[in-house]
Amino acid sequence: MKTIFEKKGLSGINLTDEKIDLSFIRSDLQRKSPIGLPNVGELEAMRHYKALSDMNFCIEKGFYPLGSCTMKYNPKVNELLASLDGFTNLHPMFDDDDCQGALELMYKLQEALKEITGMAAVSLQPAAGAHGELTGMMVIKKYFETKGDNRKKVLIPDSAHGTNPASAHLCGFDIVPVKSDEKGQICIEDLKSLLDSDVAAIMMTNPNTLGIFEEKVLEISELMHENGSLLYYDGANFNAIMGITNPKLMGFDVVHLNLHKTFSTPHGGGGPGAGPIAVTENLKEFLPSPVIDFDGKKYFRNYDIKHSIGNVKGFYGNFSVLVKAYAYILMMGKNLKEASENAVLNANYLKEKLKKAYLLPFDEPCMHEFVLSGEKQKHENGVSTLNIAKALMDENTHPPTVYFPLIVHEAIMIEPTESETKEVLDNFVDVMLKIADEAKTNPEKLLNAPHNTPVKRLDETLAARQPNLSYKDEER
Ligand SMILES: *Cc1c(COP(=O)(O)O)cnc(C)c1O
Repeated sequence: MKTIFEKKGLSGINLTDEKIDLSFIRSDLQRKSPIGLPNVGELEAMRHYKALSDMNFCIEKGFYPLGSCTMKYNPKVNELLASLDGFTNLHPMFDDDDCQGALELMYKLQEALKEITGMAAVSLQPAAGAHGELTGMMVIKKYFETKGDNRKKVLIPDSAHGTNPASAHLCGFDIVPVKSDEKGQICIEDLKSLLDSDVAAIMMTNPNTLGIFEEKVLEISELMHENGSLLYYDGANFNAIMGITNPKLMGFDVVHLNLHKTFSTPHGGGGPGAGPIAVTENLKEFLPSPVIDFDGKKYFRNYDIKHSIGNVKGFYGNFSVLVKAYAYILMMGKNLKEASENAVLNANYLKEKLKKAYLLPFDEPCMHEFVLSGEKQKHENGVSTLNIAKALMDENTHPPTVYFPLIVHEAIMIEPTESETKEVLDNFVDVMLKIADEAKTNPEKLLNAPHNTPVKRLDETLAARQPNLSYKDEER
C-alpha cells in the first residue's frame, strides 16, 4: 500500500504517508489496490460538486409545474427553525420530561392537522404519502378484523395515483377498479354495480388526479357507509381545499397528507418527507402507537392505544419535516385558505390560456391542477408529449408530469401552485404556445430537444438499470 492515489501531488489530505502504521489492521482486511479517490485538493473537489449541483434543475432556478407534486415555494426560514440546536441534537429516547418542547410541537401539529382535515385524531409517523396510504389501509384492515368481518376488496377509480392500488395490495386487499365517466369523475353506476358485502373501502382523491372535484362525493360516501364500507382520502395534494372544505365534511374516514407537498418541505430526489394520517373518532383506537398527548400539564407519548396496528416507523416520524410543516402552518394561519384559492386561480388561468393550442379532454373548471393532452400535436405533427416536455427543458422550465393520469392519452398534467406571479405564468403560456407553433413549423427541432441542457436524450431504460454517475463528458 504505497500510494493510494495514482499520481502524487494534488491530494487535499495526505493518505499516502508511508509512516502510517497498518500493523494493527489484519492483513486480510488491508486494501489490496488503491482506493481510487480523485487526485484533487479541497478547492477542486468543491468546484466539482458545485458544477454538478449547477446542472440540476430546482424550484430556485425556474418554474416547476409538476402536476400531482405541488412544487411550491418552501420558505427558507423553515430550514433555519428545523436546524435549531434544540431540535437537531435531541435524542429520540429522551424521557418525556426532557423533550417537552418537541412533544409540544408534535402535539400542536397534530391539532392543526385535525382542524385542516376535520378529523378526530392524527398519527405523524408515516414517512411519505405512500407510507401514509399503507398505514391508513392497515387501520382499515384492523377495524374490520376487530369486528370479525374480513372484507377483502378495495375499490379504486381508474384515475388514481399508482400508489393507491400498490398500498391496498401490500395490505392484502384485492383491487377492484372503478370507471370514470365522461366528466372525468367516478361513474356512480359502475360503483353501485361493484358494491357488495366484501368491499372494505374505496380509496379516492378529491379533487381527483384530473384536477376535477368529484361532485357526487356525498352520494358516494352515503353509498359506501350504507354498505358498511369505509372511505379513504388520498390527501397528498391538499392544495385546492385548505380552509375551504375537508375530507370529514365529504364523508371520509381516513386521510393522509403529504407534508412535503402541501406544507412546504423541499422534495424530489428522495429526501425525507412525512405522510401523517388523520382518522375519525371510531378509528382512533387503531392508530400506530405512540401518539402525542397532553394531560393539561405535560405532553407525553401515549402508547395506550387499544387496538393499535403497532409502530410503522422508527420513533415518531421524520421530525425535521414536522418542524417545517408546523412553522409553515403557523406562518400562514388563516392565509392557508388564500393559498388554496390562488393555487386554483392560477391553474384555471393557465388552463384557459393553453386550451387554444392543446387538447383539453375534460373542459371543466379545475382545482389546483389540470390535464392537457398532446394528442393533437402527435397526430397532426408527429410531436409527442415526451417531445414537448423535452422542449420545455430548453426554456428553463421543468416539464409538467407526463403520461399520467393513465386515462388521458399523451397526458400533460400542470400544477402551477399559488407561489408563482402572473409574469411567470404568462411566460409559461408564451413558451407553451411557441412550442405548439414549432410543432407545426419545425417539428425536427422538438424531436431532438433538449438542445441546451447538460445531458440530452437519455436511454431512460438503460439510465434506470445502469446509472452512470460519472461527470466526465466523454462518458455521456
Ligand atoms: C405524491 C402522491 C402520492 C405519493 O406520495 P409519496 O410521498 O411520493 O409517497 C400519492 N398520491 C398522490 C395523488 C400523489 O400526488
